[in-house]
Amino acid sequence: MKKKIAILGSTGSIGTQALQVIEEHSDLYEAYVLTANHQVDKLIAQARKFCPEAVVIADESLYPKLQEALADLPIKVYCGAEALCQVVTEDPVDIVLTALVGFAGLRPTISAIRAHKPIALANKETLVVAGELIDALAAEYNVPILPVDSEHSAIFQCLVGEIGNPIEKILLTASGGPFRTFTKEQLTQVTKEQALKHPNWSMGAKITIDSASMMNKGFEVMEARWLFGVKPEQIEVLVHPQSIIHSAVQFEDGAIKAQLGMPDMRIPIQYAFSYPDRLRSDFPRIDFGLCRQLTFEHPDTEKFRNLALAFEAIRRGGNMPCIINAANEIANAAFLHDEVSFLGMSDVIEQTMQQASFIQKPTFDDYMETDREARRIAQSFIKK
Ligand code: NAD
Ligand code: MG
Repeated sequence: MKKKIAILGSTGSIGTQALQVIEEHSDLYEAYVLTANHQVDKLIAQARKFCPEAVVIADESLYPKLQEALADLPIKVYCGAEALCQVVTEDPVDIVLTALVGFAGLRPTISAIRAHKPIALANKETLVVAGELIDALAAEYNVPILPVDSEHSAIFQCLVGEIGNPIEKILLTASGGPFRTFTKEQLTQVTKEQALKHPNWSMGAKITIDSASMMNKGFEVMEARWLFGVKPEQIEVLVHPQSIIHSAVQFEDGAIKAQLGMPDMRIPIQYAFSYPDRLRSDFPRIDFGLCRQLTFEHPDTEKFRNLALAFEAIRRGGNMPCIINAANEIANAAFLHDEVSFLGMSDVIEQTMQQASFIQKPTFDDYMETDREARRIAQSFIKK
């Protein structure tokens, strides 16, 4: 029996690479659900190619177009955010790949866990916003959360065979992004075009900006803490510009295990699908003759204030990670629309963290309200 995969966000960077993996191993996997936000033409092309059971377009205004374009095929067509929560619960679904971006991933992920579906998690914002709640739900429903983020997949791979051996420390590597060597002065001038040119990875726009500002690494510390049940103090961010070591785990005897590979997201995506097996692939291999040096440095939280703010959100706990996520989504989008400068993003985020209502023990409803409030506050700092 083929594993039936529901891909939330199939038109994005992770989604399209997941479809490559499925195509490559069509004897093992099939795309059962495909979804998109606005990119209806791409979704139509994917649906015609992969013939899934169902498709969802989140943007309801595009529903008629989608329905008409697929009318000759036996594909169920839905629209809206609620449909995303529904399709993942369908009986035949074996794995849900959360490859959509932002807070929008939270509700469908919860819905999938409640339906006992294993999660291949790319949507890190879900764990940033509500990691504690997701952790508790996954335990209650006995659902595995398989990391897709390259660092977390690396850590997960290092932990295979280590049951009962405590983690002393996680070494979470970071490329440092395109502005790693820039001075603070230079950072005042950087443009979105520069920020969108990541040195090692080709990804969606939001995460590429988060990587340039290093907010992404702060979010990944939060993600790692919930995925691997460690204290934030046990996670060390290590800048490693070559992105060859995807992360490492240090055990109590001092031994360190690392996972290495080319910067290619298809490897962690495929591993999340195939775990505990490894499948043959033709993805490019590392040639150590060509990569002469692997270097390491500590992150500069003075220069990259978003990383310092993320550490602050971790320290405060409660709904502060949800606040920083919402503020960052607004600031990130504003930067992409030339409405705020690169460094201005940190000001928006910091001010939102100061003004939004703090809740020490948030419920699900609190997270929804916090997200709304923090977005409203962050938006008020953006000059149009
Ligand atoms: P992307 O922007 O390329 O794609 C996002 C996908 O989500 C698209 O299919 C889009 O249609 C859909 N989407 C966006 N907003 C939506 C909404 N409100 N409702 C429903 N669908 C929506 O993003 P990406 O780079 O593929 O990243 C996806 C997730 O994976 C993010 O959480 C990101 O942090 C994480 N991630 C990505 C990479 C990478 O290499 N791209 C690596 C690690 C983690
Ligand atoms: Mg990552």
